[in-house]
Amino acid sequence: MTTTGPRVRIAPSPTGEPHVGTAYIALFNYLFAKKHGGTFILRIEDTDATRSTLEFEQKVLDALKWTGLSWSEGPDVGGPYGPYRQSDRKAMYQPYGQELLDKGHAFRCFCTPERLEQMREAQRAAGKPPKYDGLCLNLKAEEVTSRMAAGEATVIRMKIPTEGNCEFHDGVYGDVSIPWDSVDMQVLIKADGMPTYHMANVIDDHLMKITHVARGEEWLASVPKHILLYRYFGWEQPVFMHLSLMRNADKSKLSKRKNPTSISYYSALGYLPEALMNFLGLFFVQIPEGEEMLTMDELTEKFDPDNLSKAGAIFDIQKLDWLNGRWIREKLSPEDFIARTLEWASENSRLTEGLKLSQSRISKLGELPGLAGFLLSNDVGLTPASFAGLKTSPAETLEILQTVQADLEKMIEWNVESIDAELRAISDKLGKKLRVVTPPLFVAVSGSSRSLPLFDSMALLGRSVVRQRLKIAATVVASMVGSGT
Ligand code: GLU
Repeated sequence: MTTTGPRVRIAPSPTGEPHVGTAYIALFNYLFAKKHGGTFILRIEDTDATRSTLEFEQKVLDALKWTGLSWSEGPDVGGPYGPYRQSDRKAMYQPYGQELLDKGHAFRCFCTPERLEQMREAQRAAGKPPKYDGLCLNLKAEEVTSRMAAGEATVIRMKIPTEGNCEFHDGVYGDVSIPWDSVDMQVLIKADGMPTYHMANVIDDHLMKITHVARGEEWLASVPKHILLYRYFGWEQPVFMHLSLMRNADKSKLSKRKNPTSISYYSALGYLPEALMNFLGLFFVQIPEGEEMLTMDELTEKFDPDNLSKAGAIFDIQKLDWLNGRWIREKLSPEDFIARTLEWASENSRLTEGLKLSQSRISKLGELPGLAGFLLSNDVGLTPASFAGLKTSPAETLEILQTVQADLEKMIEWNVESIDAELRAISDKLGKKLRVVTPPLFVAVSGSSRSLPLFDSMALLGRSVVRQRLKIAATVVASMVGSGT
């Protein structure tokens, strides 16, 4: 079905676990489309081939589906302007790079990564912001041809006006003015022929007929590059809306070091997607106190994109907990509650897999909650006493917990084999035997030294829950180091 209303999109990069910030921006776009009879589109921005994986892409799709949002066009559902995954569109971008070269809006650059690093180093030393210095800006056509013929690696960079300001209107920030001399001569096409985010994003928004670009405020500074590309191509630019980032209560940027940020963490702990969306949706509505509980339809009705705050959306977990509790108690019928609980317990097969792992370890079924309950519980109740029986000292335990915590972020895959391999590598790195490294982890993830096999348990719990438990464990153990227990 084609609609004439606005076309908006969420454009996640599949480079990590799906973040609540993605759900927040997606919700805004979804409500915007719903409110105005428009179309909500999902596009996968995977131009960064070194960091994007299909596994993360699947996780993004699953997490967004879990939130209850749905899109009319996307890599999984197709649509008239596909493909909706940028790596599948690689060939489509090439002519546009050439067009900019032909029109004199872009130039070929042969600077090597080493030269660029030296240049940045010198700029840093001189206290200047790093920016391309224009060495290749005025190369003669013959030199470009001969260097390319000789097989030198080359990228395409955009030209930037040398004076004046880029003036534009943002739906949240109002009139914005950014001096052109603060804008870098952005690489548009990389040496391997892949476009950069900026190039692909603008071309796709144009080809997919996107009318409104609503995204996080971290992209506000990129708007001049995007506007320039629209001008160079002679295309109409969309309306821009840069939403304030979600922040921790202390106003710092929401990051997984302070608060869990993965959507999967909230689903694993038993937050209802309706409650999470209700919580996020409150940043986009003006409502009197006492009327916070809103369904998606009510959010759509009250949605007010013209009255957004720049102050930052505080991710207040207590408020989320309060709303979630109300959703559980007030919105679910007893039948729904039972069905939803069973569905939640089965997430990631943790119920069946947990039972399989438990069978050989119990003599009565009643031992199951004590043995495997940690796979479902919110909090495993760690205290200094939980770690008191370990052979490692608190300082050694802390080192193990912190090393594992840092290294698990670098793992690309999260499954029994990859966890096994990573923990062996960490043991080598620490110069300890694997059987010395695992006991503190057992306690951290399960709350007990007698539990289910560690690698399987970590795989079933998921990276975001393990991350949070290691963080809590490290805090508890650090207090023991401090107090000399
Ligand atoms: N791929 C970008 C991101 O993940 C999208 C930014 C935009 O919406 O333009 O944040």
